[in-house]
Parts: sequence; structure tokens; C-alpha cells
Amino acid sequence: MDYLPIFIDLKHRQCLVVGGGDIAARKAALLLKAQASVSIVAPEISEMCRQLLDDDRYVGKIEWINAKFSPTYLGEQILVIAATDDENVNLQVYQAAKDRKILANVADQPEMCDFILPSVLDRSPIVVAISSGGQSPILARQLRARLETLIPPAYSKLGLLVGEYRERVKAKFGQLKQRRRFWESVLQGPVADHVLAGRDGLAIKTLESLIEETSDNALQHGEVYLVGAGPGDPDLLTFKALRLMQQADVVFYDRLVSKEILALVRKEAEMVYVGKQRAWHSKRQDEINLLLLEHAQAGKRVLRLKGGDPFIFGRGGEEIATLAEQKIPFQVVPGITAASGVACYSGIPLTHRDYSQSCVFVTGQLKEGELDLNWQALVQPRQTVVVYMGLAGLDILSQQLQSHGMRADMPAALVQQGTTENQQVWVSTIAELPDLAKKQQPVAPTLLIVGEVVQLHNQLSWFSQ
Ligand code: SAH
Repeated sequence: MDYLPIFIDLKHRQCLVVGGGDIAARKAALLLKAQASVSIVAPEISEMCRQLLDDDRYVGKIEWINAKFSPTYLGEQILVIAATDDENVNLQVYQAAKDRKILANVADQPEMCDFILPSVLDRSPIVVAISSGGQSPILARQLRARLETLIPPAYSKLGLLVGEYRERVKAKFGQLKQRRRFWESVLQGPVADHVLAGRDGLAIKTLESLIEETSDNALQHGEVYLVGAGPGDPDLLTFKALRLMQQADVVFYDRLVSKEILALVRKEAEMVYVGKQRAWHSKRQDEINLLLLEHAQAGKRVLRLKGGDPFIFGRGGEEIATLAEQKIPFQVVPGITAASGVACYSGIPLTHRDYSQSCVFVTGQLKEGELDLNWQALVQPRQTVVVYMGLAGLDILSQQLQSHGMRADMPAALVQQGTTENQQVWVSTIAELPDLAKKQQPVAPTLLIVGEVVQLHNQLSWFSQ
């Protein structure tokens, strides 16, 4: 970070603006909005400056010193902004400010700025400031425009409403954790909906009854969120996954969950890696089930974050069975499963009018060196077969499919780390898969797709780095 973003309280503090043009006027207006006392030093001023001087809201807050800049005008100010069209004057202001240790900003000259003015989205008391560190003010402005639509003006009212009830809520709920939960549910529930829809009266009524009726106990309960994180690309998360990720107290995550996705989890949450090793699978699974239970019983909001979809080869069912037995509340959030995400990102439609009318997902995980699959069902025509965890059993898969009647040149693709920037797609045939794997040495996670649709990859492939 090249600059520290801070919000300075400028109320009743002196600031100097050097220059009398429109840029100077805009800077002065910003300072006045933050309730600073502003002096403009300039031999001439623009209409925009004059309007500020005449503005009723700023009476006694703004003065015009009708003169050329001289260092003698610097003294008590906390900061100074130079916005003249004369580079020499700007430099003079900057140096004079530096001598007096006053923070200076010279418009459009980043090298002469102790501070920069961000692009501001003002929903006071909520204020969003965006800076590009002087690299691209236009990008910063565009981002602000996007945030304008995400954060409508009513957020200002929402912020004020919370501010008004803060003390009352503090008095009612002694613990910080309870208050955080209370406000989170208020801000994600009907109170926020009412404010954003302009139903202020109803919002207040609902909030008051919530304060009245919510018991300490209700805020004490733990809950488990079993959430599918999708195949890798963070953009493929659901809104619900993201929301729950941002309110979790503790997170148990798998090897498959990418670091970009983990970076979106609430910063204060405790992160626990429970990635499984193939060999000691079942014991670990019991331990994970127990961990979820214990943390929820301790009143935590537990996020169990799994790759893809939790109910597709994810053992999600087992993890929540224990919770259901113990009557711990839980929610399950579907994710984009590898078959779906990886197929899309490698341009292989899983079904297609001309080639495939059905699609089966199977696991290729070996049990004691064997693959126990319904081979007859897998070699049906006009069908796509997607194999999860198929790397270790690739040779067996290739042989068995062929010996059950699949033609040797049936197209097959291996997709490694699909949907991520490291995605690799190798297209071959079912007979040649073992050789391909020996040559390319794919590593987990890799998905195998078998069927006529695989040949469409050449034509429809769109995602490349
Ligand atoms: N619940 C997960 C699957 C877990 S099994 C889901 O719904 O996607 C793990 C297997 O999924 C891996 O061995 C691999 O075959 C597949 N897989 C998961 N993510 C993948 C990715 N990004 N690219 C390729 N295969 C992936």
C-alpha cells in the first residue's frame, strides 16, 4: 500500500486552498463538506468559487484572500491544497508547506502530494473512499460509479438508524459477540429491507420489537453452514456462500478450496485446514464431523467450506447427519460442481442434441486397488461420463470401459485445475488415456470426461490464460 487511507476530522480546523479556478473550488467544496474552515488565496476567483463564498451553508466558514500566494499565509493550517495553473506557484506552495510540516496536495502532481484526495461515495455516515494511488483516477471514478448502484442513497438512513439504536442495543446485549450477531441479522433482514424500500416507520417499529423480543439465548446458539465453494474460480461462488463466508466465526476448509476464495472469508474468522489424505480417509471424516459439532455447541457459527458442491462426492451428507442427530441448526449451500464448472470452462457441453442425451457422474476412487462401478451402465450410447477422482484408477477405467464395449477411439478429456488460471485440458481417446497420463503427469484435482461431446472442445474452447 503506497498510502494509508484515513478519515480525518476537519471540523473547525483551518485549511488553505491556493488557486481560484474550478478545480480549486471543487477541492474547497470537499473541505467545506467535511466542515473545515477554508481560506482561498488567489488574485482572481471563478464563478464556482464565488458561489461557495455566497453559499448560506458556509457562512463564516470560507474566506477569500484576494492576493497572490506567499508563504506567510501558511501557519495554523492542518493541510493545504494547491490548484493553480502556474507550476512555479504550486511548487512554492509545496515547499513552503514542507518547511512548516503542513500536509500538502498539489492537484494533478502526485510527486508533490503528501496526501491524495480519493474518489468519494458519500452516504454519510457511510463513506466509501477509493484511490488508485494517483495511477488512474478514471478507474477509481468508474469503480465509484459501480458502487453507487450497489450502495444506494438509503444506506445513509440505515447507517443513521443503527447509530441511533447503538446504545440501546449495547445496554440490552452485554457481550460483543451477541451484539455483532444482532446487528448482522438486523442488517440482513427485514429492517434493512424496509429502510431500503423507504418504509422508515416500519423499519423503526421492526427494529424496536426485535430489540425487545430477541433473547440473549437466541444469539448464543451455534449453527453450521455447509457451503459449496465451487470448482476454483472465486467468481463462481454463490451470493449466499459469500454472505455466510463473511459471518462465520470459524472455518473448516478442504484442500480443494482455492486461496482466492479463502481470502473472501471474514478476516476475524479462525481458519482450520482439514484437507484429507487419501490413505487415512475415514478416521479423518469422523474427526471432522465431531469438530463441526463441538464448535457449534460452543455457540460458534461454523463454516464448512468444501470444493464444488457439498452433496456431490463431498461427504456432505455424513457431516450434517451428526448435526441433525444433535439438533444443531445447519444450512447447506450448493456450489457449482466440478463436472459443471470444468466442462463449461473447457468448452465441452455435457449434453448435446447430436451427441449425448444423458450424463452420469461417477467416482473413480479405488477401494483396495479395485474400481467397483456399474460398467454396463457406463458404456451406454449417447451418454457423457464424468469421472471424479479418476487419476489413480485411470488404467482400470480405460480397460474396463473398452472390455464392456466402449469403442477404443471414444473421445476422452482430462482437465486439470479447471476454471482456474492453471487450467490444462488434454484431449485423447479412451484407449490412449493411460499413455497420455504417463506423458503429461496430471495432478489432482483432475476430472475425466468421456463421450462424443469431448470432440466439441476444439471448436468451443473459450477459456485460456
Ligand atoms: N464436491 C466436489 C468433488 C469432490 S471430489 C464437487 O462437487 O466438485 C474431488 C474431485 O473433484 C477431484 O479429484 C477432481 O476429480 C474433481 N475436481 C474438483 N475440482 C476440480 C477442478 N477445479 N478441476 C478438475 N477437477 C476437479
